Amino acid sequence: DLRRLHHKIPQSELERALFASINPKSIRAYSKNYTAAPHLGGTNFELAKWTADTFEEFGIKAEIPTYDCYINYPLSAGIELYDKDGQVSYVPSLEEDILDEDPTTGLVDQVPTFHGYSYSGDAKGQFVYANYGRKEDFDLLSSKGLDFSNKIVIVKYGKIFRGLKVKFAQELGAAAVLIYSDPADDGGITLKNGYKAYPDGPARNPSSVQRGSVQFLSIAPGDPTTPGWPSKKGTSRVSPYDRIPSIPSLPISYREVIPILKQLNGHGIKPDQLGSDWKGDIDEFDYSVGPSKVELKLSNLQNYTITPLFNVIGRIEGIRAHETVVIGNHRDAWIAGGAGDPNSGSAVLLELAKAFGEMIKSGWKPLRTIVLASWDGEEYGLLGSTEWAEDHAKFLGDNVVAYINCDVSVSGHHLFVSSSPLLNQLFREAAKKVSHPEGGTVYEKWVEQNGAHIKNLGSGSDYTVFQDHLGIPSLDFGYSFGPGDPVYHYHSIYDSFHWMDTYDDPEWAYHSAIAKVWGLITLGLSEGEIIPFETEEYGRLLKLYVEDLEKKFPVLEAIKQALDINYHEKFGFKHSNQFQMSDIQRTSKPYNNLIQSIGKFIKSAAEFDEYTARLHKEYIKDYPWYKYPKKFRLLVAIKLANTKLFILDRAFLYDKGLDGGRDWFKHVVFAPGRYTGYAGALLPGLLEALEDKDWAAVEKWLKIITDCVDKADSIIS
Ligand code: GLU
Ligand code: CA
Ligand code: ZN
Ligand code: ZN
Repeated sequence: DLRRLHHKIPQSELERALFASINPKSIRAYSKNYTAAPHLGGTNFELAKWTADTFEEFGIKAEIPTYDCYINYPLSAGIELYDKDGQVSYVPSLEEDILDEDPTTGLVDQVPTFHGYSYSGDAKGQFVYANYGRKEDFDLLSSKGLDFSNKIVIVKYGKIFRGLKVKFAQELGAAAVLIYSDPADDGGITLKNGYKAYPDGPARNPSSVQRGSVQFLSIAPGDPTTPGWPSKKGTSRVSPYDRIPSIPSLPISYREVIPILKQLNGHGIKPDQLGSDWKGDIDEFDYSVGPSKVELKLSNLQNYTITPLFNVIGRIEGIRAHETVVIGNHRDAWIAGGAGDPNSGSAVLLELAKAFGEMIKSGWKPLRTIVLASWDGEEYGLLGSTEWAEDHAKFLGDNVVAYINCDVSVSGHHLFVSSSPLLNQLFREAAKKVSHPEGGTVYEKWVEQNGAHIKNLGSGSDYTVFQDHLGIPSLDFGYSFGPGDPVYHYHSIYDSFHWMDTYDDPEWAYHSAIAKVWGLITLGLSEGEIIPFETEEYGRLLKLYVEDLEKKFPVLEAIKQALDINYHEKFGFKHSNQFQMSDIQRTSKPYNNLIQSIGKFIKSAAEFDEYTARLHKEYIKDYPWYKYPKKFRLLVAIKLANTKLFILDRAFLYDKGLDGGRDWFKHVVFAPGRYTGYAGALLPGLLEALEDKDWAAVEKWLKIITDCVDKADSIIS
C-alpha cells in the first residue's frame, strides 16, 4: 500500500481513459456478432469461446468453467381447438412471422416458441381465462366458485414471473397453461392507437411470442436438480418437481389466441364483475372467464437432458488479488437475436473489457481484482451464475465486495435501477458523471423520469445468488421499455439487431451511456481505497420497510402497543377467531425490539458514514514522506473500516433460510416475492408470516431479523 502511494493513477484520469475508449461503433459490432445466430443456453460454445478469446485479446485472462445442468430443448408442440362436435376447428401455427426486413427472423434454425422447463406432455379439456394468472386472480375466481381442475388455463403475460402463473394453476389442479401477450400491456403503443406494427412501426408485431422459463423462480433459481450445490459432473441430483412444473405450458401470440378466446364470449363470469385490468385490448373477444363449451388440446414434447453450460470468467488481477469486484451479464438468449435481452448487456460488457484492456496497457493495475462474467443458461433460471456461485460460495463469501449486473442494457429509454442500499449512492454519483443521449446527464433524465428511484432487488436475473444466497451487495440496471418507447418484443425473434439498430438505439448512444455508468461503478469499487458503500440509507430503508408492513397489516399497530382492547373490532378484522390476544401480546416485545434495533442501527450507520467520509478526506491529502507513519495509521484504520463495510450485508443472512420451501433464500431483508418472482419482497420471512397469520412464525421472524440488525449494528457501531 505504501508503494502504491507513489504509483497511483488519479481516479479522474482513469475515468477519462474509460470514457475515451467507449465507442458506439464497437458496441454495435459486438452486438451484431452476438445476435447473428441462435445461442440458447448450452448451445452457444462458439460464442463463449469468442467472448473468452476477445477478453484474452484485450489482455484479460479468461476461462470457460462449465456446469452440467438439467434443461429442456423443444422437440414439437401443437394446439388444436375443437368444435362442439369434437372436430378440429383451428390449429395455430405457433410460429412468428419471418420478415424480409429483419434477416435473423428467417434463420432456418430459429428457436421454436416454447417454455424453458415446461412439462413434456399433453392435455385436453375445456379452457378458462384467468387474467394475469396471479395468485389474486386465481383466488378471486375460486371464490366465485370456478373449478380449475383439468382445465386448460389461458392467461396474459405480465405483472409477475410467468413460471408462477403455471405454479398457481397447477396447484389448483389445472391440466395445462397457455400464456399470450396482450397489446393492452404495450404502454399505449398499439395498432388501435394508430401505430404501425414492427417492422413498419413501433407497435407489437401481432405474431410475436414471448418464450421464457416457467421454473418456480421464488422457490430457488439454478439447476432444479441441485438446489444449493454446484452441478458438477457426477454430482447427486434430486427430483426437480418442487422447482419446475408438472403440467405442460406454451406461449402464444395474441393473433393466434383470438380464435380460441373467442369461444369464451358470453360464457361464465364477465370481466367487469372482476376488475378493471381483466379486459385487455383485443376486440374479437370479450374476456369472459368461461369455461368453454368446446375443448382445446395442447401438446408439448420436450427433450430433457443434462448438458454443459458455458460461463466465461475474465479476470483482471488487482494489487490486492483476493479482494474482488464481479460484474456480469448473461450471454444466452431465447432466440437468434437477443439484441436487447441479453446481448445489449453483452456488447457493453465486451466494450468495458476493451476499455479496461487499454487502461492495463497504459500501466493500470486495479487495486482490487475485477472479474467479468458472461453467464450461460440465465434464461432457464439463472443457471450459469447460480451454479458458479454455489461452486465458489466460500471464496465469494470471503472476498467479493459487490456484484454489478447488467442483463438488458437497452430495451427502451427509461432507466431502471435495483440495488442493495449500500450501493445506491455510488450509482447516483456515477449517473451524474455521464451524459444522457438526449442532453443533460443520465442522472438528470432519471430524476425527470421517476425521481431517480432505486428499487429493491427481486429476482429474474443473475444478481440473485449473490444478494439473496450469499449476502453480497448487488446492483442491477439498464434502460428499459417505458412510456412512448417502441414496443420491446421481449423473448421474441423481433428482439433483433435490426430492431435495435432501426428503432431502439440507432446511435448506440444508450448502450454507450450504460457502458460509462457501469465502468464508473466498477472503477469506484475496484479503486476506492475505502469501499464506497453508504450504510445509513440501509437503516433508513429498513425503517421504511417496517412502516410499509404496518400500513399493510394494521394488526402491527396493535402488536406495537399490545393494546388491551378488543383489537379486532378496532381494526375491523373479518376472521377475528384467527387472532388471539395472546398472539398479539407475545409478539409485542419482539416487535418493539425490532423497531428499537433499527433505530439504533440508523444512528450507528450515520456516524459510521461520517467516519468513513473523514477517513477518505484524510486519505486523499498529500502526505510528505516524513508523515508516512501517520498515513500508515490511517491505512490501518481504513483497512478495519473496509472489513466492516465488507461484512455488513452478510449480517443479514439467516443460515436456515426462508420458510415454505424457500430455504435457498438466506437474506432476511431481500428475496423475490413468493407470489411475484420478479418483484422483491421486503423482510420476506416476516411478511409471509403476517400474510399467513402464522403467529409463531411472526414471533420467530421478528427475533431473527432483530438479531441480524443487531449484528449489523455491532459491526459498525
Ligand atoms: N430473466 C429470465 C426471465 O425473466 C429468467 C428468469 C429466471 O428464470 O430466473 O425469464
Ligand atoms: Ca445447483
Ligand atoms: Zn436477460
Ligand atoms: Zn430473458
